[in-house]
Amino acid sequence: MERYFPLFVSHELKENTLRIGVAEALQVEWFTPLFTKPIENALHALGYSDARVVFDIAETDRTSSSQKPAFTPSPASFLKQTAAPTLMGMPSTLPLTENYTFQNFVVGPSNSFAHATAMAVANGPGRTLNNPLFIYGGTGLGKTHLMQSIGHYVLRNNPSASVCYITSETFLNEYVNALANNAMQAFRERYRKVDVLLLDDVQFIADKRQFQEEFFNTFSSLMTYRKQVVMTSDVAPKDLKGCEERLIGRFQQGMAVEIEAPSYETRLAILKFKVKMQSSGRIIPEEILKYIAENIRSHVRALEGAVSRVITFMALNTSIPMTLEIVQHLLKDSIEQEKTIKDLTVEEIMKVVADFYGVTLSDILSSQRTQTLVTPRQVAMYLSYKLTTRSLVEIGRSFGKTHATVYHGAQTIQKRIDVENELRKTVENITSQLGRNPSELMK
Ligand code: ADP
Ligand code: MG
Repeated sequence: MERYFPLFVSHELKENTLRIGVAEALQVEWFTPLFTKPIENALHALGYSDARVVFDIAETDRTSSSQKPAFTPSPASFLKQTAAPTLMGMPSTLPLTENYTFQNFVVGPSNSFAHATAMAVANGPGRTLNNPLFIYGGTGLGKTHLMQSIGHYVLRNNPSASVCYITSETFLNEYVNALANNAMQAFRERYRKVDVLLLDDVQFIADKRQFQEEFFNTFSSLMTYRKQVVMTSDVAPKDLKGCEERLIGRFQQGMAVEIEAPSYETRLAILKFKVKMQSSGRIIPEEILKYIAENIRSHVRALEGAVSRVITFMALNTSIPMTLEIVQHLLKDSIEQEKTIKDLTVEEIMKVVADFYGVTLSDILSSQRTQTLVTPRQVAMYLSYKLTTRSLVEIGRSFGKTHATVYHGAQTIQKRIDVENELRKTVENITSQLGRNPSELMK
């Protein structure tokens, strides 16, 4: 298919800069590397020795970016193209998973507040106080599902809305590519014209200072135009490690909601729902579902895995009636695994470490800096960091220290066990006593 694009919409020479306005971000991306130098050279030859050329989206289109630009270009300003690359001017967006909808989301006490808030956002994107909406919680608890439900709902109500779902990792890669290709302007324009930005796993931008700067600007621009931003993360905004304060401040301006691990009743409800969706009419006895709900507690993804296993078995062995014994056998590995990921608290760790070294809990919590206390204290910090899902800030709170102290303590032990065999064995030993596998320390 052949397409025509107007080339220049406007131009303006200010100081030494010739700013050439074009209609679409794509053109900025294409023209910048192709035409900047030749035009600059021509200007230099004409005597404008310091002239610089910048391609930019024409001012008129900036405010109405969701609409197509309305202008009548002269024939001379047409550029003929053979591809149909309009999508390149759009933000990269990953496809929404078809069944990640509100209808398929089972609501229980662990997620009802998050669910209600997500519904409110989906009903009035950018128009509620829940902007940005920040959904946080452990892995496999339904954050992505809930976030995408908003996308589906908005698109159903308004098919022409620009909904962009992207993981922070992809978003960061786009940014790095844009930097490398000198196409920052296009990158900015692309992301600033979405109506709903769904940014998944935002904890990934930790420690990427330069990107945070850029993201801050994109984010502020979306807020200014009252576009909806939804983010997910494994921790609350205040606990995002390595994230600029002002960015965290911005994240906190809307609403942060937590999804917690589901209770037994919710797990059972989710199992029943998944069975209804997948079993094509086969019945799984209640007793079996209860057994699964009792034994698989960590997250919803693990429940789904268990249901799939049971259903697959039933489909392949239609003549064998499903019994609890078969299920126990089928799920043996997953259930074993559940046991090993018993969630430890920082306090449990401190206690076991203190016992091991023959010191008291208050020794661990004190600020005395004698080596006999510093090592156990730092070992407890290290293990808390490695074996729990708590953030440095939360661990710091339990120790009555700052997150920086915990980080330093954990790092010190990490370095020491790389060279001190004795200490490594001690730490592994304590890990086993805590009911965990020392191989987890390698991660
Ligand atoms: P997260 O993003 O928090 O890691 P996901 O959204 O990917 O978790 O959820 C993991 C799986 O569990 C998905 O397949 C999702 O559909 C399912 N799931 C999570 N919570 C629910 C729920 N409340 N109802 C139904 N399915 C759920
Ligand atoms: Mg997710």
